[in-house]
Amino acid sequence: MATFIVMFVLFYLWHGLGITVGYHRLLAHRAFRANQFFEYFFVVGGYLAYQGPPIWWSAIHRGHHKYADTDLDPHTPRKGLKHALIGWAFDTKNYVHLGMGNMCKDLVKNRFYLMLEHGHSGVGGRPLCIIVNFAYRILLLALFGWTVFWANIAASIGVFMIPQLLNVVCHLPGWGYKNFATDNDGVNVWWVGLLGLGEGWHNNHHAYPGSSRSGLRAHEFDLSWQVIKLGRHFGWVTDVNEPASMLRLLRPRKAETIARARRIHKYASAGRKLSRA
Ligand SMILES: [Zn+2]
Ligand SMILES: [Zn+2]
Repeated sequence: MATFIVMFVLFYLWHGLGITVGYHRLLAHRAFRANQFFEYFFVVGGYLAYQGPPIWWSAIHRGHHKYADTDLDPHTPRKGLKHALIGWAFDTKNYVHLGMGNMCKDLVKNRFYLMLEHGHSGVGGRPLCIIVNFAYRILLLALFGWTVFWANIAASIGVFMIPQLLNVVCHLPGWGYKNFATDNDGVNVWWVGLLGLGEGWHNNHHAYPGSSRSGLRAHEFDLSWQVIKLGRHFGWVTDVNEPASMLRLLRPRKAETIARARRIHKYASAGRKLSRA
């Protein structure tokens, strides 16, 4: 059992951070630069979590940010929960406007990513990705046995749900809160923040998509950000984007004082108006 738990955690971290740090923050948003070891370690972790080719994934995600919660958003829950959860992946009409080559001009220059795109129809049928993912798990079984195999299957299912939770739960306004006034439904949801390794602070992320960090306040723990910082510490990561205007939110005392002052002022004016009436 101990082996299962340890391996589950390791697989969850590798495949999960593969999606959050590799696919999402590094490739889709270019929120920082990384050396090849760091980049491929995480991107391969994401690919082996059955995320489809990285260029396709990034095109869809860039489209989500560009058109968030409008008709052109590939997976807004405004078109129904089933659609946001899985239906969008099979709906070609839904994202044909994204034009993957145009959305990801930077990524198509990478031969490895272009190779992973090979044979990908973009309709949810991802032959190469399916074959590689299947072969990887058979290899795990052959080399390490059933405990490691099942730990990987369990972790992979959990990790596969991270993007689904973000697409659905973090775009339901009643389920979370906003730190920033944005024009889409993206909200911060604490338990998606924990399970999603820092991705659940989705309102912060929509306000500053190019930022390397999504968690800002003391309770907004962002494991992916900690990993990026660790990479920077070792010199594997550079050009880490942390917008100064976003970081102002980290001074809650000052912000609270301003908010309180505004509230007092508002009530004071209301009181004056009332007394005049
Ligand atoms: Zn979103
Ligand atoms: Zn994003």
